[in-house]
Amino acid sequence: MTDTQPTTGAAALAKRVADLASALVIASRLSAHDRWTPEQLAQHQRQAVLSRVRHAARHSPFYADLYAGRDLGDDLDIQALPVTDKTLIMDNFDRVVTDRRLNLADAEHYLATLEGDSYHQGRYRMLATTGTSGRRGVFVYDRPAWSVVLANTLRWQRTLGIRPRLPRRVAIASIGADDPTHVSCRIPASGDVGLFRTRHLSATMPVDQLAAELQSFGPDVLLAYPSVAALLAAKQREGRLAIHPRLISTHSETLTRDMIREIEDVWDRTPFDHYGLSEEPHLAWECPHHNGMHVFSDLAYIEVVDDDHRPLPPGEVGRYLLTNLYNATQPLIRYEITDMLALSPEPCTCGRPFPLIQRMAGRIEDVLELRSPGGRPVAILPAVFAFALESFAEVREYRVEHSPDAIRLTVVLQSGSDEADLRRAVARKVRQAVESQGAPCPPITVTVTDRFERAAGSMGKHKLIESVAGG
Ligand SMILES: [Zn+2]
Repeated sequence: MTDTQPTTGAAALAKRVADLASALVIASRLSAHDRWTPEQLAQHQRQAVLSRVRHAARHSPFYADLYAGRDLGDDLDIQALPVTDKTLIMDNFDRVVTDRRLNLADAEHYLATLEGDSYHQGRYRMLATTGTSGRRGVFVYDRPAWSVVLANTLRWQRTLGIRPRLPRRVAIASIGADDPTHVSCRIPASGDVGLFRTRHLSATMPVDQLAAELQSFGPDVLLAYPSVAALLAAKQREGRLAIHPRLISTHSETLTRDMIREIEDVWDRTPFDHYGLSEEPHLAWECPHHNGMHVFSDLAYIEVVDDDHRPLPPGEVGRYLLTNLYNATQPLIRYEITDMLALSPEPCTCGRPFPLIQRMAGRIEDVLELRSPGGRPVAILPAVFAFALESFAEVREYRVEHSPDAIRLTVVLQSGSDEADLRRAVARKVRQAVESQGAPCPPITVTVTDRFERAAGSMGKHKLIESVAGG
């Protein structure tokens, strides 16, 4: 029953071209949404959420049970619907999906043998999360849903000014996961029908090799993890790389102010940050006004909430609930994401109705839980560490590993820095930052290193701030 053979050759290309053709049609419809008023956007969202909820209740046994006894009519209070999360969706995978021919065992087999951009059962593509933190997730898109993903890719490219051109095609270098189940690898693969000259490189490659590959490719556009882009900028500053991308976009990790500065100094370009998930590959990205990332909420409805899932106003940091507005196969409705963010109370100066992310504040799992002298719980957000460390111009890269008993800081310093002085200053600054939150700070150690290794197991991502409590 399972079709896991890679679809190859002309037939596969024809299918990919057809998916991309519908993406082009959808993309032109999406660009009109830039001119919506916030009221039009809100009205669209409500209708779209209602339609997702009813579709799920009709076609997914899991959601039919979850919503049993509820009136899903036009007066539905969306905020009263139960919250879902990755554990719930994965534990009930076979009953969540709306096509009874799909099941998790087959899905995992497809992912394990996936090559290139092949389909499952002739119509599904899937993405998997890496599983380095928390539960592994598997996310299924049918061809119409994937065309929406590709349309959103086109919208993102247009926002940034990347357009196909001839005869000299735009050269796009993407540096990301070397794994076709990962979103940063799959989108370039399925969008590649020859409109651009593309090269996908693995972020786990040694940086000198990356630099050599880029040097020979000569990218007009560089898509990379921010830490990798900053490392490459440092190479160029040292005279060991000479590329001239006219556009740089970063994704998948925190883009720090230091990294922005390094990239701007070397290439005279402000990087465009991008935020995506396997559950919604293009959730948010920056427009040329660089006021923060827009949440493209015509395709993804998000609610920022507190620990008890009560709504938070713009400006306040919380986890959020995601409702994917186009994935009919694996409905994700009020699905909890533990990345923390605050929406901006202000609209963007570009006039788009899509709300701005004021700041990303790390993941719930990476919050350090301390106690005040009176025993009250005090949550230290990852951003507290980030802001303290990024106030040092001499700190090129950093990693924070923390538990309630110890904080381990590892830093890469600019050459010529006074190591002993800086170690003391960094420890003092972090201690002050933690204590300003109202809790005594656990002992801090500061280690200086030349560089960080990029592990293949984490897709080559550089984890800046991590809880090591209990492990
Ligand atoms: Zn904008």
